[in-house]
Amino acid sequence: MTCEYCEIIQGEKEAAKIYEDDKVIAFLSDQPATIGHIIVAPKKHAPIIEAVSDEDIDHVFKVANKISVAVFESLKIEGTNLIVHNGVEAGQEMPHFSVNIIPRKTGDGLMFEWQPKQLKEEEMATIELQLKEEIGKPVVAAEIPKEEAIEEEPEAKEEGAEKKKEIKEGEKEESYLIKQLRRMP
Ligand SMILES: [Zn+2]
Repeated sequence: MTCEYCEIIQGEKEAAKIYEDDKVIAFLSDQPATIGHIIVAPKKHAPIIEAVSDEDIDHVFKVANKISVAVFESLKIEGTNLIVHNGVEAGQEMPHFSVNIIPRKTGDGLMFEWQPKQLKEEEMATIELQLKEEIGKPVVAAEIPKEEAIEEEPEAKEEGAEKKKEIKEGEKEESYLIKQLRRMP
């Protein structure tokens, strides 16, 4: 399958590029939600966020933040929506992970409002528990309690955690990946 964003990155397809470095590209959307709608994408092809390296995620969002500030200044807007459509069911059309920067102004006519769902207390508690179990420990080094952080090198810790996860969650991991593959656009 051809990827339009990869074609833009490789210079095979025209686009209004507004920023580029060795890892990231940003260009104007040809189907803008508002004037100045920008797409920020890693140069390395990855269909959904789960397939993007931590390093690229880090850089894509840093660049998106920088561009968002620039949009504020240059287009005299009042806000931005930074949106990731992750998976076909979430409205993703291009099979290449990206962050949309959508400039906003009072009365621009764009609607993101929704009717809040009514949940019972026990439904909320169940969801909270399920999510906490699945998410597990913090992934950011800064969030690890000091004693633990001193005992182990961050890299060694990561490897250890990875192995443990593999052993403990072999089957679970597999079904998760299958689910993710199904979601790819
Ligand atoms: Zn691509």
